[in-house]
Order: sequence, then structure tokens, then C-alpha cells
Amino acid sequence: MAQVSCSFCGRRKNEVELLLSGIDAHICNHCITQGHQVVMEEMNPKEKKEKKPKLPKLNLITPVEMKQFLEQYVIGQDEAKRTLAVAVYNHYKRLTQPVSDDDVIIEKSNIIMVGETGTGKTFLARSIARILQVPFCIADATTVTEAGYVGEDVETILTRLLQAADYNVEAAERGIVYIDEIDKVSRKSDNPSITRDVSGEGVQQAMLKLLEGSIVNVPPQGGRKHPDQKMIALNTENILFICGGAFDGIERHIAKRINTRPIGFSGDNRIIEIFDKGNLMRYVTAQDLKSFGLIPELIGRLPVLTHLDPLDRPTLKRILTEPRNALVKQYKKLFSMEDIDIHFEDDVLDYIVDQADAYKLGARGLRAICESIMTDAMFELPSIKEVKEFTVSLDYARDKFEKSSLSLLRSVA
Ligand code: ADP
Repeated sequence: MAQVSCSFCGRRKNEVELLLSGIDAHICNHCITQGHQVVMEEMNPKEKKEKKPKLPKLNLITPVEMKQFLEQYVIGQDEAKRTLAVAVYNHYKRLTQPVSDDDVIIEKSNIIMVGETGTGKTFLARSIARILQVPFCIADATTVTEAGYVGEDVETILTRLLQAADYNVEAAERGIVYIDEIDKVSRKSDNPSITRDVSGEGVQQAMLKLLEGSIVNVPPQGGRKHPDQKMIALNTENILFICGGAFDGIERHIAKRINTRPIGFSGDNRIIEIFDKGNLMRYVTAQDLKSFGLIPELIGRLPVLTHLDPLDRPTLKRILTEPRNALVKQYKKLFSMEDIDIHFEDDVLDYIVDQADAYKLGARGLRAICESIMTDAMFELPSIKEVKEFTVSLDYARDKFEKSSLSLLRSVA
């Protein structure tokens, strides 16, 4: 026989402390408490007015200022910066706006970013959270599965946010969640199959309730939900979700769409020539995400779509030297703490960029390559007191890199 559950929230008997039975219905202690609050507020409107939510204090700056801040850390990606700045600004304006009597409701502006791996999607989201000083967490869409299957429940995504907010529910409810690898949970095929798609479409379905703004019961310690665990109710209405994915191969869908656009001379190859073929990603639309395998309901809850450009060689070089915490600056600082003045020859930077380019790891590869070149120096120089200056030459860099396990990786590839 099915277990008795609350007729209001659906919690089962073993998930609540108290379950009262009525005629053909049951109510749990949580719903009684909530119901009591509603009754009190309705019967005493004055009290209700006083209990209007406090306006949250946020470090809100204008989109232009936000972009200027991002400029210090993230190189290029102009469009993504602008779009993010506007979306985040509107989202937080919505939060700080007093409840007004007109019925214009500013809707949530969850964001989806499309761009190759290592082009700065996570970095942008993290930097935005830093500006606003709100809790921020990164979750990986591939680790979650549809409830009831091996893997984590989607609610655990919010566990991380709660942890980032030190379990302060109010702070977590205004946080930012970055969901990485959203492309990896795309629908496996357009044909409904007999086997359930529990890590693809199933996850997308499960994510809908997080994104749309509802009360979600979050397991405070993560992992699988189990009946004895006390849940924390989190309202996702004001949580900003930013999703990102590489969407490998989406260019094919974009090209196909552009080529078949009914603008008179469809099917003509000339159309694609008007577009920048090297970077089709910039023409990405919701329709392409759908062709790729995201379900329309999910796309609908991610109304802001932006792309990140692939990082070309000049951009990779700038990333090495220009950002506030550029790798070259970090090494200089590390060595200056040992009273050593370190200098990178310009062709070393080109060499590092060459290697990163070859691995197709975007900017993520830069760090690993620099480490493979610099580890020996960082190991040896602190114990040689008389060294006050150190120049990384091309020969030195090449020698260190070729001896490293990273270069082996390349010969295998
Ligand atoms: P993605 O999420 O797109 O796969 P990340 O944001 O994790 O890539 O990027 C990896 C690292 O590369 C970042 O931590 C950052 O240091 C660096 N990086 C990537 N793109 C940029 C950029 N446009 N400007 C500066 N640094 C970048």
C-alpha cells in the first residue's frame, strides 16, 4: 500500500514529525506552520505590511562599471561581458526594487553561455559574483541524474550554494549558481526511446524546478536525499543561474540554419560567406540549442543567451600578461618574495601560446604549461642565495617543457 503523505506538500509520513489526518486528506507540521503564518498575515494586514521583506543590501554597480571591473581580469569576450553585466544588473535591480502596486513584474534573467572550453565562462561568472559579493558556487551538470538513479539529485547543486553562504538561507537565496557542462545533459536523440534518458533529458526536466523559482528542499550535506535527513527549504526565485557549455559541434546546426534561412536565396552558399565563418558561435540562437538537444522548457528558463569567442593567439598572449592576476605577474610576485627579479623573454611568451594553442585547451592550458617550465626554478632558486635575477629564455623554456609530462601528452595526441 502506498505510504501516507501530506496532501499539501507531498512529504511522506516518515519525512515529517507530525501528520494529522482529516477526511480524505492529511497535513504535516510544516504545512500547519506555514498555513498559520498565512492566516495571521491575512487577518492582520498591518502586521503583513510591517513584515515586507527587507531590501537586501547589495554592492550594486552599473553595467558600465561592472564591465570595467571585468576588463581588469577577463581579456576579450566583449559581448559576453556586456550581456552578463546587463542581465546581472537587471536581476539585482529586481531584487532591490520595493514591491510595487503596479503589475509589472520583472522576470528572472537566467543566463546561458556558449563557448569552447577554457574561454572564460566560469571565470566570468566567478568574477561577477565577486563584484556583487554574493554567495557563488559552481556545479557540474554531468554529476547529477534524475531522482532515483545513481548519481546526485539536482537539489545538491543548491547544497553547494548553501555551503558557500555558510548555511545562511537568506544570503543563499540571492546567490549565483554556475552550472557547467550544461551541453552534456542534452537529449541523446530526438526519438523517444524505450530506455529512459536519466542523465540527459531527465536531468534537464529536473533542473526546471530549480531555474523557474520555487521552494526546493535541499539536503544540507548533499548526496542522496534520504528520509531521515532534515531538509532546508530554499526559495530559488531570486537565485541567478548561469549555465555554460562548450556545445561541441553546434556550429554545424548554426551553419545549417543560416544556410536554409528563407531570405530569398536560401540554399545558396553565398549566404554563409556574409557571416564570419571562423566564428559561427557568435550567431548562436535558442533554436540552435534546441537542435543540439536542450529541451525548449529549459531554454525558455534561460532567456539570456550569449557566446564566448574562441581565444586566438594574440588574446592568449594578452591573457599571459595583462589581467590583474596574469600568470606572468603571479610568477614575478612569487619570485620577488625571494628577492629575485624574474624576466620572461618575449619569444618565451610566444612559445607558451604556441603550446596552448596546440592543445586546444584555451587559456586553461597556459597555467599547466607555465608550471612545467617554472617548477624547477621555483624548486631550486630559493636555496641559492646569491641569485638576484633570473631570465627565462626560449632555450630554457623549451628544454623544461620538452622534459615535462605535458609534452609527452602532445606526442600521444
Ligand atoms: P571555461 O569555463 O570556459 O571552460 P574557465 O573560465 O574555467 O573556462 O577558464 C580557465 C582559466 O583560464 C580561468 O581560470 C582564467 O584564469 C583563464 N581565462 C580563460 N579565459 C580568459 C580570458 N578571456 N581572460 C583572462 N583569463 C582567462
